[in-house]
Amino acid sequence: MGDWSAMPEDLETPRRPVPGELTFDSPRRGKPRRHLADLTMAQRREAITAIGLPAFRADQVSRHYFSRLGDDPAGWTDVPAGQREQVSDVLTPPLMTALRELTADGGTTRKTLWRLFDGALVESVLMRYPDRVTMCVSSQAGCGMNCPFCATGQAGLTRNLSTAEIVEQVVSGARSLARGDVPGGPGRVSNVVFMGMGEPMANYRSMVAALHRLTERSPAGLGMSARGITVSTVGLVPRMRQLASEGLPVTLALSLHAPDDELRDTLVPVNTRWNVSEVLDAAWEYAATTHRRVSIEYALIKDINDQGWRADLLAKRLRRKLVHVNLIPLNPTPGSMWTASRPADEREFVRRLQAGGIAVTVRDTRGREIDGACGQLAAVGSLSRPLDAE
Ligand code: SAH
Repeated sequence: MGDWSAMPEDLETPRRPVPGELTFDSPRRGKPRRHLADLTMAQRREAITAIGLPAFRADQVSRHYFSRLGDDPAGWTDVPAGQREQVSDVLTPPLMTALRELTADGGTTRKTLWRLFDGALVESVLMRYPDRVTMCVSSQAGCGMNCPFCATGQAGLTRNLSTAEIVEQVVSGARSLARGDVPGGPGRVSNVVFMGMGEPMANYRSMVAALHRLTERSPAGLGMSARGITVSTVGLVPRMRQLASEGLPVTLALSLHAPDDELRDTLVPVNTRWNVSEVLDAAWEYAATTHRRVSIEYALIKDINDQGWRADLLAKRLRRKLVHVNLIPLNPTPGSMWTASRPADEREFVRRLQAGGIAVTVRDTRGREIDGACGQLAAVGSLSRPLDAE
């Protein structure tokens, strides 16, 4: 990968947001270089003919990138040696450098810290299970949604990622699996969840283009099933509606965390813009249009949102809908005084939801010991961890 040591370190870190403050727009900064994963097949061919080479070189390089997962132009033996550098400069410029990899669960959970061209840091997490491999990707460096229990939200928004910066996180995980770097033998990425750093709906265009690249067949894209992809949102209602109209049957996950506006206003500040009834209506519209079951995410926080009456109210609001509740025991984050619910309260919460006829699962806490679990991705912390944590 590229050498970034000569790059200027001019990236200001964002100001910490005050409680409740929302940032929808990405600060304007220099753009990462254009990469084939940003482009449609037609645009890639145009880029290649613009430098005077035959259009089919774009197909060849796209195949190397998405099917053979090759990141070294020296291995592109079907491209004349004298053209490889030129073609790679136009279609596969280096986008990011892996600064650090932390592993847990015997190597089957791996968190990678990436440095982008401008010094921005993001993280991605690979999780291998017996029957699937899930890549959790970041859509922004930082996040502007300011949820007080989430480490990413507390650091503010640095910038939106480009489509290729999102796709490359998945392709990199696919490369590690194909090379057999992940215990369990060679494998493939079966699932992608937009649950890393950032609010994907606030970076809508790049996120949707990334969905196209992930699902298009090679050479256009990675050829994944849309059913294996989940986009998680705090609930930007107009964007939820827009996503329903894209014709991409990805799973929508809604970070609800409270069934009542009074509490949700404080846990998910964007609730002051679109309240519980409005986000739930948008979720039901999404389910009706795509026929996909919506996932409701609910972090269980001790004595904050885990009361029996809230479970009952949640069940009431979700009754008879195409929905599934994913409870997440709160993961610890620096500076937060909140902790996960008591086991007995968690069990009672599950019982009441089930009694109300709601499908419910409790998410595992994969990656917690490497700060790679939900809400723990903050990038800067990963740099200061002692090396023996690897
Ligand atoms: N911005 C998007 C996606 C990223 S977070 C969203 O909010 O949906 C993925 C999930 O982890 C969200 O449901 C988020 O609310 C949850 N989460 C954040 N911090 C957490 C924490 N400390 N413990 C457990 N879940 C957390």
